[in-house]
Amino acid sequence: MTDTHTVLNPATAAPVAEIALTTLAETDAAIERAAAVFGAWRDIAPGERARLLRAFATVVDAHLEDLARLEVLNSGHTIGNARWEAGNVRDVLNYYSAAPERMFGRQIPVAGGVDVTFHEPLGVVGVIVPWNFPMPIAGWGFGPALAAGNTVVLKPAELTPLTAIRLGELALEAGLPEGVFTVLPGKGSVVGERFVTHPLVRKVCFTGSTEVGKRIMAGCADQVKRVTLELGGKSANVVFADADIAKAAATAPYAVFDNAGQDCCARSRILVQRSAYDEFLGRLETAVRSLRVIDPADEASEMGPLISAQQRAVVTGYLDGVETAFTGAAPDDGGFAEGFWVPPTVVLADDPALPIWREEVFGPVVAVMPFDDEEEAVRLANDTEYGLSGSIFTRDLGRALRVARGVEAGNLSVNSHSSVRYWTPFGGYKQSGLGRELGPDAPNAFTEEKNVFIAQD
Ligand code: NAP
Ligand code: MG
Repeated sequence: MTDTHTVLNPATAAPVAEIALTTLAETDAAIERAAAVFGAWRDIAPGERARLLRAFATVVDAHLEDLARLEVLNSGHTIGNARWEAGNVRDVLNYYSAAPERMFGRQIPVAGGVDVTFHEPLGVVGVIVPWNFPMPIAGWGFGPALAAGNTVVLKPAELTPLTAIRLGELALEAGLPEGVFTVLPGKGSVVGERFVTHPLVRKVCFTGSTEVGKRIMAGCADQVKRVTLELGGKSANVVFADADIAKAAATAPYAVFDNAGQDCCARSRILVQRSAYDEFLGRLETAVRSLRVIDPADEASEMGPLISAQQRAVVTGYLDGVETAFTGAAPDDGGFAEGFWVPPTVVLADDPALPIWREEVFGPVVAVMPFDDEEEAVRLANDTEYGLSGSIFTRDLGRALRVARGVEAGNLSVNSHSSVRYWTPFGGYKQSGLGRELGPDAPNAFTEEKNVFIAQD
């Protein structure tokens, strides 16, 4: 009998689908198939590979609404977010469809001949995806990997396989040859682990917890396997007194409560300069109380439930014995009584040693702390093992630059909370990750640079 996983709707806890879990033998067979078709995919004319990726993007676009609805059902994402996420897969495919004809090498001056470099694809790439952004994180791996001429095996999170499975079908519909992109729903300990140990998988792209990421890195070391890690975060939103406080307070909830806080870039620590602290908190309370935490399928929904009962237990565990300053709403009746809801919650922190200040909660919880001057703000922002993203609110351009350069994180925004644009690089400092995804250089991260010298005599 095959093992299955029952997918639940996080808003209601109702079963949605029964998904067969890929076995170890099936994983090996898929990896071997991906390795077998690699040569043909690598050797296809660059313009033809580009055309196929654009066709894939077109098919994703044609199914955008279906994919978005499926994500609302499987992940509890708001319908607005889910449409953005499906659109992001399309856009990433379109962006990297311009790469195959542009995988330039170099010609380097040498005596007695010609020296040229090539960016050669690696072979089979294994992409391991977490449950928080099933579509975008999948696309950030498979888009540039396929464009560079690799074949891809992809493992979605056990909790959120539905859109990935659909993307695998859409790739075939778009004309990608069988075996070039294979989605393998299953357990991390079976399918994900095999990506690490199977010698035919030449690179692993992992997004998820820092704990599992470290184990993957250690496992990859055994074969000196290439690895990219996108891990946790505890990002700071630093608000100076000279900033537009109304704007800073109105936008802060979205920067942490979007996706119910299940975002590695969540600005889950807010640092506010003391002279603006009271005004900021007052305005933040108004903003948090008016956040629309309702049925994620409702067009007006701004925040949905957490992914699982387990994740809810983790998040509420962080709140045990912690005094909350104020909270927003969350539905707890009707069809939603059994769903995995937690209201947006604001905690005042006065000690940087507190777990709520140091650890990634991965839920709708934010901690606020006052600071006195720029030096202290940067020191507090950097007092963490993580370094993924962050925001700086100030009207002083020099200060914005100094703090942006001073904070040890891969993705910073000034007077805004934007962090991930597919055409700019994304990744973490310190224990938030290793390597970069997205941006113009991403395809090169899926290649080896080969140097060839040709003697002229
Ligand atoms: P996780 O265990 O790191 O899972 C991420 C992915 O890795 C999933 O596809 C998972 O498969 C797979 N996996 C698990 N163990 C593996 C192994 N030994 N070898 C290979 N792959 C493996 O994360 P989680 O348990 O879902 O979430 C735990 C915490 O991680 C969260 O509370 C949050 O703090 C953090 N997190 C961070 C991000 C991020 O974007 N940086 C995303 C998600 C979670 P299964 O689905 O089968 O477990
Ligand atoms: Mg886990």
